[in-house]
Parts: sequence; C-alpha cells; structure tokens
Amino acid sequence: MRELSIEKAGQPHNKSGQTAGRRSDALPPILFLPFRIRKPPGLRHASRSSFLILGRVTVGLHPISSQSDLSLRADEESERYSRQVLFSGIGEQGQRRLLASHVGVVGCGATGAAVAGMLARAGVGSLTIIDRDYVEWSNLQRQVLFEEPDAAEGLPKAEAARRRILAFNSKTQVHARIADLVPGNIHKLLADTQIVLDATDNFETRYLLNDYAVEQNKPWIYAGAVGSSAVTMNILPGQTACLACIFPEPPTGSVETCDTSGILNPAANLAASLQAAEAMKWLVGASGAMRLSLLSWDVWANQRAEVNASRPRTECQVCGMRKFLHLEAKGRAQITLCGRNSVQIHEHRRTVDFAELERRLQPHGQVRRNALVLHFQRGIHRMTIFGDGRAIIQGTTDVGLARSLYSRFIGS
Ligand SMILES: [Zn+2]
Repeated sequence: MRELSIEKAGQPHNKSGQTAGRRSDALPPILFLPFRIRKPPGLRHASRSSFLILGRVTVGLHPISSQSDLSLRADEESERYSRQVLFSGIGEQGQRRLLASHVGVVGCGATGAAVAGMLARAGVGSLTIIDRDYVEWSNLQRQVLFEEPDAAEGLPKAEAARRRILAFNSKTQVHARIADLVPGNIHKLLADTQIVLDATDNFETRYLLNDYAVEQNKPWIYAGAVGSSAVTMNILPGQTACLACIFPEPPTGSVETCDTSGILNPAANLAASLQAAEAMKWLVGASGAMRLSLLSWDVWANQRAEVNASRPRTECQVCGMRKFLHLEAKGRAQITLCGRNSVQIHEHRRTVDFAELERRLQPHGQVRRNALVLHFQRGIHRMTIFGDGRAIIQGTTDVGLARSLYSRFIGS
C-alpha cells in the first residue's frame, strides 16, 4: 500500500501542540480529527470498476404478504437476503454466518445508528447496542434510526434504536444497554460479542475499547467523524496495529467535537459504511479482504489518505507489553458526586485554553470566564471548567450524563 503525503492545516486537533507519541513525528494527526490532506502528485480518480458493479444488480418486485399476523415465512426470509446472497463474497454460507453472529456497537449517534441499521438489515443475528444518551432534536439531521417522536419523548438512544430495528427486521436480537461503558462494566456488556464497533464520540472510550479488545483477543473497528471527515481503522489483535501502536496516548487539550465543530451526515455515514463492510468481511470469514490501514476521507474536499497499520508495534504498551492502563482505569478521570445535584470530573491532564473554548461554546449557550475558570450554561446544566480540565457539572447527579456533556463540549 502506498503511503500518501498528508499536510496538517489550520488549528491542530491537539490544542496543546503535543505530539501523540514516539511515532507521531512520522505520522499525520488524522486520528484526532479534523485534518486536511494535501493531494499527492499522481493520485488518480477512483476506478470506474466501482460503478460497473451496478450492472449486476437486478430489480424485482416483492410480493405483498397475505399474512395478517406479520410473522415471517421462511421464503420471505430467504427473499429478504437474496440480493446479498447473490454477491459472491457473501453467498449462502456467508449469510448463515451473519445470521449466527453477534456484534457490539458502542455508541449510538450518527455512526452507531447507521452501522447498527446496516448490519441489522444485512442479517446480523444479534446486536448489543450501548449508549448513555437520549435522543435530541439536533440528532435528527444525521442519526438515521431516530424520528421526531423519539426526540420529543427524549427516548434513550439504545432503546429507540432497538425499536426502529425491530420495525424493519423483527428477527434481529437487539440488546439495548443504556449505560456508560466503563472499566467496571465493559467485560459484562461486551461478553457475548464477537466483534466490537466503535461509534463513540470520545477517545477515553476508544482507548478503553482498545485495551479490552487486545486483552480479549477480540477484533474492533475504530470509526470517527467530525466536520466533513471520516476516519476508520480495523484492529485485529495480534495481526494488525492497535490504536496505541499508532497513537500511544489519547489527545490532550480541548478536542473538536460534533457539538462544537459540526458534522455532515455523509461523513458519518461514510465512516459507518466502511466500518460495516469491514465487519461483514470478518463475520463471513473473509478477513483476508480487510483493509490494513488507517483510512481518512474528507467528503467535502474529496481527499483521502491511508497510513499503513498492517503490523503491531513490538514496543507498544498495549499489544506489545500488554499493559492495560485504561482497562485498569488508570488513564481515566475520576468522577464523583459533588454536593447537591452536581457531578465533578477530576480531569487533570487536559490543559484548557479558555479563550478558544469560549469561542467554541458561545453558539451553544451562555459563557462567562475569568483567568481561573470558565462557566458554560446550557439549558438546566451549568458546567464550570478549570484550567487543568477539571469540571463541575451542575443540574444532574447522573454520572453518565455528566461524562457525556463533558465529552461533547470539552472533549475526551
Ligand atoms: Zn499496539
């Protein structure tokens, strides 16, 4: 695979300007979105072969079921997957494997809703969907499993996703887990899954997932999207690089998020589509066809880049030395209930630039700051942020919600 030249432009994602580790000098900061890519000389347009495949698709009319109880007959099930079975990479055996598979989806925002929906339609038999948030109106622009009544009701995303999936594929076993994925519950929540798909909005959870996956020798697929950019990478423990091989440390400083920098739904759906395709390859036993790179793709600039991630790094703390600091909660900010109706996040590694944070938060609520502290009021929640990243979130005793607000508006 050729390595493409990549140029970092504009504000670095890591506001502190620190590099992410020993290999960072040689690698672009594209994991930590956003980024821009300089098109290398000689890069050609995509091959036309990707369009020619359309010529193989046949169109047919589906008979309307005469059954009144909506129970599905075997021939209806067979018809449902017929176009996918026709694809040589899947076939009948692949379809049987999909039906017997169990996939974990961590996070059910734009990427999670899209990938869970695609895999349920493709016939993945069981899905465990883990999410700590509820549906808001701002989600409807891109989060494809949710509808207006879900936002009006403020339904938890995992449950809203379960209901929507069952409406189009009633045979899918959907395990909706309304939870914050943390070291204390990750083994239990993901125990029955064969592969885990990252659809989170924060690096704290991604590094936890990386530790868990390497420890359990279980594949996971990183996917992220912010602005117009999507990034994804397959991690097959023992075979490919892990997340920490490429970036030994999570980003520090305030991090761009969908809530502060916006997001285009094609970017999120692209990340989900690539992730779903890679997951399907693995599930049907075609892991040899999986991509062995960190891929980034800007749908607005029409630019993409890849970094070789085909081999583990022997000195990697996680997959090389098997040190699972995030799984042991050593890399995680402690969270405590603090006073009445408040939660404190004891982050101390995230140097906050108050002026920059004020600029980003102003469109989303009231912001006041002085030299020592920044106050951000949004609805019933008031966040007080200190210079080292520590924060007090007033208006809730829900630790998961507090963590969510922190990752959405400050970053994690
Ligand atoms: Zn590694």
